[in-house]
This record gives sequence, C-alpha cells and structure tokens, in this order.
Amino acid sequence: MIIARTKKELNRYLKLVRKANKTIGFVPTMGALHKGHLSLIKCSDNENNFTLVSIFVNPTQFNNPDDLKKYPGNETEDLDLLLRESCDIVFIPDVDEMYPEDDKRIFDFDGIDKVMEGKFRKGHFNGVAQIVSKLFEIVRPNKAYFGRKDFQQVAIINYLNKTYLPDLGIDIISCDIIREGDGLAMSSRNRLLSVSERKSAGLISKILTKYGRKFSGYSVEELRNRIAEEINLDKNLEVEYIDIVDDESLQTVSEIIPGKTTICAAVYDGNVRLIDNIAIT
Ligand code: AMP
Repeated sequence: MIIARTKKELNRYLKLVRKANKTIGFVPTMGALHKGHLSLIKCSDNENNFTLVSIFVNPTQFNNPDDLKKYPGNETEDLDLLLRESCDIVFIPDVDEMYPEDDKRIFDFDGIDKVMEGKFRKGHFNGVAQIVSKLFEIVRPNKAYFGRKDFQQVAIINYLNKTYLPDLGIDIISCDIIREGDGLAMSSRNRLLSVSERKSAGLISKILTKYGRKFSGYSVEELRNRIAEEINLDKNLEVEYIDIVDDESLQTVSEIIPGKTTICAAVYDGNVRLIDNIAIT
C-alpha cells in the first residue's frame, strides 16, 4: 500500500494507474476507521482495479470548533487496518496541502442543504462540498463510495457531482449502513461514548426500526413525536431533530409513502452527537 501525503506524490502514482488503463474507486474518509469505512473499501475493490482511500479531517465542515478538536483519530491504527484491506493508495494530506489559501466558494444546493443537518450545522455541507470537490478534482476516480449512514450527505454529493462537476464523469455509489450487534450505526464518534452512553446509543436504531420497518399508519406529526418521546425517555439521550422526509427532495413529507420516505434522526448522547436514519418500508 502506498502512502501519499501531497498532491504531487499522489499524482505521480495516479498517472501510472491511468496510463495502465486501470479504473479507480475512491473512498473519502475522516479516519478513525471502522467496519463502515471498510465496507466501502470492499465495494470499491469489487468494482474497480484500484482503490484509493483518503483520510482528512476537513476543518471547513465543522461548525463547532470544539467538535473538530475532539474528533477522534489515530493514524497508526488506521494504517494497520488499511494494510489488511484492499486499499492500494492512502492519501493523507494536511490542512495546508488541501487549503493553501482560504476556500471562499459558496455552493448552492437548491434547498437540500437547508434542512436537517444543514439546519442544525450551519455551513456544514458547504464545507463538505469544498473538500469533496477538491478531492474529486485531484483523484478523478471512476467511482466514489459514500455511506447511507450520512443520508443527506449522499444527496448533497450527488447534486454536487451532477451540477458542479459533470465533466469529471464520476459515478457516485451509495452503500448500506453497517451496524453494531445492537443496531447502533457504526461511527467514528462512537469511540467518544462512555460505557453508559454506549448502552443508551443502541436505543436510537431500535426505536427507529420499530417505527420504520413496518409502516405504522401514524401521521407524520404523530410519528415524529412518538419517536422523539421514546428516545428522550433515556437519561443520556436528547433528540435534536427527528424528520420524516421524501427520499428525493429531502423535505418533510405531508404523507408517508412506504418505499419513498426516510426517518432521519440527530440525537445527543451525553455530549456526543449521533445521526441515523431508516427507510420506511
Ligand atoms: P467519515 O469518516 O465519518 O466522514 O465517513 C466516511 C464515509 O464512510 C462516509 O461516506 C460515511 O457515510 C461512511 N460511513 C460512516 N459510517 C458508516 C457506516 N456505519 N456504514 C456505512 N458507511 C459509513
């Protein structure tokens, strides 16, 4: 596995890969890798000749400086994991390498950035678009892999790719959510949970599944309130939002249509903010 820390180094290798007509699959991450990340790498390996993983904690997508400071990371552990996976190159740039100057670009997402994560984390998706567009332009992969754990992010990336970067011809592939035994969606942030918070965290997906797996017949408002109330019963958990949205527009639905509607949640577990979602079937 090759480790590249600069765009120049990375380009040197990528030139050879392209010259050999190999297809490139790209998995962008912020490190603190877990089985969710590894599943994206496996998908990429199945569909491409070559897999490139990036590890970069992107400061412009953090609206809260404290959250950025606390974001978990351990490069040695990440590299150990990647060595055992089918990762061909890992790109680990530093902030100056990715932002030699301030990125002042403002992206317009036609409203899909204004709800849920976008509403509660102002500027988050603009930061995501800044880093992903830079990485896409450097790597120019055939396919890029994202997890549905970040449901709204997948929609933002699809929009970014289609509207701002059509000439790169990248296929965006979204992959299933990988969960712990108790249903908790795997996340780098789970490392920040205390033992008692970790126990509570499992309830989030349990409650979402209870209401999402089998269409309950509740109205949107009733469903939202029931889920929030049940989650808030746990002493560690506090709902930031529950939203029930259309899979395409990401706007709150007036009527639930199984197969086209998703329940999205952001919940504080102690001080750790967790997100999850489940499609209503
Ligand atoms: P992150 O390092 O949190 O920015 O995540 C990098 C990529 O891994 C994103 O596309 C995430 O959606 C994806 N990802 C994170 N957690 C999971 C999970 N539990 N299952 C599937 N994909 C995930």
